[in-house]
Amino acid sequence: MHSQKKMTETMTPVLGDRSRGETIVVALGGNAILKPGEKGTFAEQMANIRNTAAQLARLIREGKRLIITHGNGPQVGRIFRQQELGVRAGLPEMPLYICGAMSQAQIGVMIQQAIHNELIQNGCPRTVVTLICQTLVDPASRAFRDPTKPIGSFYSETEAQRAMAEKGETWKEDSGRGWRRVVPSPEPQGFPEIDAIRLLIDQGIIVVVSGGGGTPAAQEPGGALVGVEAVVEKDLAAQEVARIIGAETLLILTDVTHAMINYRTPQERAIGKVSLEEIKEYHRQGHFIPGSMGPKVLAAIRFIENGGKRAVITSLENALPGAEGKVGTVVGL
Ligand code: ADP
Ligand code: MG
Repeated sequence: MHSQKKMTETMTPVLGDRSRGETIVVALGGNAILKPGEKGTFAEQMANIRNTAAQLARLIREGKRLIITHGNGPQVGRIFRQQELGVRAGLPEMPLYICGAMSQAQIGVMIQQAIHNELIQNGCPRTVVTLICQTLVDPASRAFRDPTKPIGSFYSETEAQRAMAEKGETWKEDSGRGWRRVVPSPEPQGFPEIDAIRLLIDQGIIVVVSGGGGTPAAQEPGGALVGVEAVVEKDLAAQEVARIIGAETLLILTDVTHAMINYRTPQERAIGKVSLEEIKEYHRQGHFIPGSMGPKVLAAIRFIENGGKRAVITSLENALPGAEGKVGTVVGL
């Protein structure tokens, strides 16, 4: 008891800084956690997250209030695989949205610990917490009629046919590489836990929320929530959190310094500071690939249209100047 008290006093003396600094919603891309070509061991993921935490801690030390969201593609893919192997050993399988929640906890605790450590080392201790969040979706929406989001590994046609017949899942052939399960990618329509997010950031607590777009859930007429087999784009969920909370900045950190027009053509050109009208026109012209840069640009557009001050798309290394709109693709102020 005594030692616990002492540890609390020395390690976490400050719950949070309640002064009303600028609120930034940061959406971390997959590369913040797992780099292409890596095996994805715990040590690799933790090392990447430490680098990410160093960037984010600099923003926190500058007095910004951070709400952090993150992708979960590779991690949740591995959790599915573990489930499949578990089924062979006679263990019951968990639904997709529960696997998503597992990945929120797994990635969240790594981010939470890494930021805590980074802040402690810099003499700026703060409380960091992960909220396992649900994201409301509408099962009657168009996204559910045509599932588009590939998840998990590639399989043979035989295995895909079996999953379609036995489990009623949708599988699609993926450009000659094999068959993959596809699930709907619906719009985020709200967050049952939004008041908890607000409460925590108002107390100066740093929160990790809605990882992987959040656990999709539908609301029944009586208000009950039920999990849904779908994946919400994390960039769109981040925008929706930012809008509802009234954040000043939406900072989307990925593996490129800018969104580009004529991407991967000789006419390729980085987009720097850009007006809302101009980027909407580029989006309309189809410069941004759906499922990767597309949702980031759409999130930026929506954020500014909904009254946000600044939306920035840039690389992880540029988190600090990016938050100030000095580098990257900057929509708004
Ligand atoms: P994250 O994990 O950060 O969400 P994504 O892979 O989903 O990353 O999206 C980032 C990728 O988007 C870049 O690595 C790039 O290959 C791709 N991309 C597609 N269209 C564009 C574009 N017009 N400009 C820049 N990058 C683009
Ligand atoms: Mg992405």
